[in-house]
Amino acid sequence: MSKTPQIVRTITALREVTSRWRADGEASALVPTMGALHAGHLSLVDEVHKHAKRSVASIFVNPRQFAEHEDLGTYPRDEDGDVAMLGERGTDLVFIPPVEEMYPPDFSTAVEVGDVTEGLCSASRPHFFGGVATVVAKLLIQAQCDYAIFGEKDFQQLLVIRRMARDLDIPTKILGAPIIREDDGLAMSSRNQYLDDQQRQMAPHLYATLCTVADAIRVAGEVEKALGDGTSVLATAGFDVDYLELRDAVTLEPITTAPQTPARLFAGAYLGKTRLIDNMAV
Ligand code: AMP
Repeated sequence: MSKTPQIVRTITALREVTSRWRADGEASALVPTMGALHAGHLSLVDEVHKHAKRSVASIFVNPRQFAEHEDLGTYPRDEDGDVAMLGERGTDLVFIPPVEEMYPPDFSTAVEVGDVTEGLCSASRPHFFGGVATVVAKLLIQAQCDYAIFGEKDFQQLLVIRRMARDLDIPTKILGAPIIREDDGLAMSSRNQYLDDQQRQMAPHLYATLCTVADAIRVAGEVEKALGDGTSVLATAGFDVDYLELRDAVTLEPITTAPQTPARLFAGAYLGKTRLIDNMAV
């Protein structure tokens, strides 16, 4: 399955390849990433091959989804390592646009999604989903693949992208794929590299606490108590808790009493300067 992927850096070159596939009747799928790839990203590439013959991964650290004070400058980058890993998973094409290709100097359009962007990650990162929706809309239109695959690790993001694609009539089908975790339960993330040894040991408590809170909600149905207890446990363990919330898994409406519809538990918390997010079905 291992291949040497073709690397393209311009939208024209990307379209040349994907339009040839389309003309040949070969379905294709796009996996957008910001690079520094890990097994979570690679699981999305594996997922492609269940749906489409051809795969494109994009690597683009999108400046528009970082606020001034965030980690754009230090975000981990390893183009050669990423391309090698993508090749091992059978990726056909890797799109690595420079910033000017995505955002020419007079770029002046933004995609803003409402409703599902409210709360959770937006509360402390109000710029974030606008940046994500803008870049993903561009990538979907640029690549024109049949499918695009996103991780449930960023569950709110997945719903924002689904809504954006539907609202803008972008025909690419948006698929979600499960969260890939380390052996100790920590959800894999490129930002886990920022954790020092002590923080890395503490980090799996986020997942463990989600499991405990989800169990308490399932058994006792006392949502507010379970969320309050979970927040205290995390704060005592040294997390700076951004949010711990139960929401409807489809609409993202907040849920405060025993859920009657599929629900999802969401957490965002800082360990030092590193922001971790995680979620699970309840
Ligand atoms: P990123 O490079 O962080 O922007 O992530 C690119 C894609 O990989 C997004 O669709 C993420 O949701 C997905 N992803 C990141 N980490 C994981 C993980 N641990 N499991 C599954 N998907 C993931």
